[in-house]
Amino acid sequence: MSESSQILSSFPAKLYIIATPIGNISDITYRAIETLRLVDIIAAEDTRHSGKLLHHYQIKKPMFALHDHNERDRAKVLIEKIKGGLAIALISDAGTPLISDPGYHLVNECRAAGVDVVPIPGPSAVITALSSAGLATDRFTFEGFLPAKEKGKQDKLKALIEEKRTMVFYESPRRIMDTVKQIILIFGGERKLVIARELTKTFESFYSFPASEMLTWLEQDTNHCRGEFVLMVAGASLQEDRIPEDALNTLRLLKDQLPLKKAAALTAQIHQQKKNDLYKWGLENL
Ligand code: SAM
Repeated sequence: MSESSQILSSFPAKLYIIATPIGNISDITYRAIETLRLVDIIAAEDTRHSGKLLHHYQIKKPMFALHDHNERDRAKVLIEKIKGGLAIALISDAGTPLISDPGYHLVNECRAAGVDVVPIPGPSAVITALSSAGLATDRFTFEGFLPAKEKGKQDKLKALIEEKRTMVFYESPRRIMDTVKQIILIFGGERKLVIARELTKTFESFYSFPASEMLTWLEQDTNHCRGEFVLMVAGASLQEDRIPEDALNTLRLLKDQLPLKKAAALTAQIHQQKKNDLYKWGLENL
């Protein structure tokens, strides 16, 4: 009997893209567990890391390493195996495969080769963070990791300067402080940020501040930069785009001495701006 026919099962020969926990080991669906139990092979980004999850759920399967460096070569082998009758699951270290994780080439080539790809949904840090951040979620843009080098990071942020949708970034503890500094430089210190840290874990926490205050908070304590981070940036508001900075400065000064309505009316006269826009901006930002 050949090696592949020994492990050939009756489970449909397809590629199953399975989401796994992002911290809390209980965050995995029944369907994900069931599918992992039924497939013939599990392709994982890091077989040792995923081995712990599988051990916890008493799943013992042949594993296959599939990471950024070997994905293109290994995709062909996996496609042959599926065509030969095997069911294969793809998991990553955490969350949903392909979301800032390997798998794109494999899925792309499976589709091109007419191999069925079945998503088994579950956690992803981007959706988990957005669901509880308190920022607009009707429209958002997922930006993944920013480039590590300063020029690349600045160019990317500059390209997003007029983005009105909530922006979601993944960030590492080593870079979070620098990224917030660059955001202040490019979007301004008043732009609202939310950090979701250690989602679903013991020290899960959300911090919501204007960018300049977020930097102060990060600088306060080295522990504040520890853990896993999702950084969310409120979209550029329409008012912010239209009102020039000198008018906003006048409004800020007047607001210290006067009620907002009066301050907005005077600023409107001084800078030939719309009273209502200034008032609305003041309500949101002062
Ligand atoms: N595939 C994963 C997903 O679906 O979210 C993302 C993998 S990416 C390599 C890892 C990054 O996701 C981390 O650097 C962090 O930015 C974010 N992340 C993953 N788990 C997280 C958690 N528990 N809390 C906060 N951020 C997390």
